[in-house]
Amino acid sequence: MIYTIRRKILVKGVVQGVGFRPHVYKLALAYGLAGWVKNDAAGVTVEAEGLPQNVREFIREISRRKPPASRIDSVSVLPLTPTGEKLFAIAKSGGHAPAGAVIPADLALCGDCRREMLAPRDRRYLYPFTNCTNCGPRFTIVKSVPYDRQATTMAGFAMCPHCLREYTNPLDRRFHAQPNACPVCGPDVELSAGGKKYAGMAALEKTAGLLLAGRIGALQSLGGFHLACRADTAPALRRLRAVKRRPHKPFAVMVPSLAAAKKLCLVSKTEAAALASSEAPVVMLRRKGAFSEPAPGLSRLGVMLPYTPLHAALFALLAKKGFAGPLVMTSGNLRDEPICKDAAEVSGRLAAAASFTLSHNRPIHNRADDSVAFEAAGELRLARRARGYVPAGIKLPAGGAPLLACGADLKNAFCLTRGSEAFLSQHIGDLSEPKNQEFFRETLGKLSGLLKVRPGVIVHDLHPDYASSFIAGSLPGAKIAVQHHAAHALSVAAEHGLKDPFLGISFDGTGYGADGKIWGSEFLVFGKHTWRRAGHLKYFPLPGGDIGAFETWRPALALVKEAFGPAWRKAAGDLFKKVPGAKLNTVERMLETGLNCPATSSMGRIFDAFSFISGVRDEATYEAQGPMEMESLLDGKKHGEYAFGLVQGETCLELDPVPAVRAAVTDRLAGVSAAVISARFHAGVAAAASSLAIKLAGEAGLETVCLSGGVFQNRALLEDLAVRLSRAGLKVLANSRVPSNDGGIALGQAWYAINGYSGERAAE
Ligand code: ZN
Ligand code: ZN
Ligand code: FE
Repeated sequence: MIYTIRRKILVKGVVQGVGFRPHVYKLALAYGLAGWVKNDAAGVTVEAEGLPQNVREFIREISRRKPPASRIDSVSVLPLTPTGEKLFAIAKSGGHAPAGAVIPADLALCGDCRREMLAPRDRRYLYPFTNCTNCGPRFTIVKSVPYDRQATTMAGFAMCPHCLREYTNPLDRRFHAQPNACPVCGPDVELSAGGKKYAGMAALEKTAGLLLAGRIGALQSLGGFHLACRADTAPALRRLRAVKRRPHKPFAVMVPSLAAAKKLCLVSKTEAAALASSEAPVVMLRRKGAFSEPAPGLSRLGVMLPYTPLHAALFALLAKKGFAGPLVMTSGNLRDEPICKDAAEVSGRLAAAASFTLSHNRPIHNRADDSVAFEAAGELRLARRARGYVPAGIKLPAGGAPLLACGADLKNAFCLTRGSEAFLSQHIGDLSEPKNQEFFRETLGKLSGLLKVRPGVIVHDLHPDYASSFIAGSLPGAKIAVQHHAAHALSVAAEHGLKDPFLGISFDGTGYGADGKIWGSEFLVFGKHTWRRAGHLKYFPLPGGDIGAFETWRPALALVKEAFGPAWRKAAGDLFKKVPGAKLNTVERMLETGLNCPATSSMGRIFDAFSFISGVRDEATYEAQGPMEMESLLDGKKHGEYAFGLVQGETCLELDPVPAVRAAVTDRLAGVSAAVISARFHAGVAAAASSLAIKLAGEAGLETVCLSGGVFQNRALLEDLAVRLSRAGLKVLANSRVPSNDGGIALGQAWYAINGYSGERAAE
């Protein structure tokens, strides 16, 4: 008699909707095993029976050969008594939605599907809705759980016999691929151009022709529309900038292949892997040559690869016409509004921008913008977390009752927790725009429905006037307010599972401080459950408040006045010559009387001020334009560093920017280049921050430093500071899976509430 064993195997992680059961089924056949596999509440459960050696290897191979889109968090094995079963089957999963079910994120077109749809003989040749269990739409089409076709916007399409055979054959790549479709039975595109409508291949051919001719079109993608045009023709780009009211703000481009990306930009291994990943974000790459139109003044260009079969089909048709260049693909929205998700929204909002619209009849249920990532200090870091990443959960160091963290007002994303998992929403945007507040509420309804959570605690920013705080106030449940920069720092601790005391450095544009002032460069000491502010940039007045982020000469004038006192005009020479005299006088008087000059410790505004002082930018048309252009001038060479002072304030150690301002003004007036001033400034900030951090960490006995806040999207600063801190023996952590900007703040808020932090409070 043959000796057999039987094992029960529980696999947890992202294992549903990604081809996991067929993977297990095929392996079981290969090892001659009997038993079954099914989806259940916890993930995938397998029972396997056969020769001991085969069962053991089968279990190893489950993880080793896992489907590309899956993620295994744990595999546990229990011994069972063999039953003598002879066959292996895919068992039906339970009909009701399991409490722990995971909704998969959207997956970029896989290699197998790409090959098929580019093969002229294939039945899916250039079919824009080709997908399989390894790729295709997921989150953006799902309406409810459990995730099956009826719960998606594919419900209205009945599979043809051919597709149904694929769908029901466990050995087929399309076994249980919920959005499975073909030209016979699936969705189709529709082009509206010049008052005419086109469908199918004619629509695609015509669209390629219009793009080639330099027209701007609205193209339906996975989570919304893009506005697209050739990136290499100035007139189209100028028109696009005019209609989007974005005179300089960088546009992302899509290139047909990794090879094409490498022609335009330097691509590291990490960046190449990100471009080709199933998340397929926009990756910020270092530009090689003079091709600067889409991102004027910047050394980096946002690049992505075709991530839907529709994109692949268009690029294939463009290639036939001899065009292999990049296309601008920017979010199809008006400035700061949610991305358009259907043709009606496009005709309402983008009519002036797009001369044609390529839409399709597979509705988008959940809007999701493109995600944006960059590499810094050897790791890929997200700057915008949306399509491809949402709604993947992030494991927290501990769990609790479900809660909602509302995030902040700029680059809003909120966070729901279920047990010890945190689910960030897709990028919602700027909540000062009422349409984004609607988007917030709509997404909150959808996401809490999909996750089956009803949050009893609502966490929000300490800022009393934030729209996110108002939304929090309108929802039922206990409220917890969290200081902005504490939440930033805690977002790092949360994503790295850090429970021990640490020093947080939050460098940011603005955030409401516990003393009612505008904070933005905070050194925070976190105990196990408490926190306090231990250091910051010395307060300086910000004439006109937030306008200073755009009129960079305002914070510059405030700092120059601090640095040189009443004799500032003489000391500044012609530094402010481009600022109209009347404006300059008004702001000078504001500074003297203190009228509308809130005190701030904002590191973002210091960067803005130095972008002015260095001669890089007088006025910005988008947030952080000056600092980004200033960073673009860095060549990696050392040119010395500007010194910051260190003074003991009432409760904190304070960094004084005045010596650095004096030195930079002197340099500028002596004709030192903006590139050198930029290098000295960046190095100066890193030096000042590291010496203060080392001192504070030493005093408090801390070994770990967490870096967060929007300013740490500055790669040069992040890398320089990390090196300096590590050299001093400190462990340095920074954001990677959530943005360091306000897009990641909800995660820190959630962790604040779950871990029961308390500490600095608002001045009553
Ligand atoms: Zn595929
Ligand atoms: Zn079909
Ligand atoms: Fe912030």
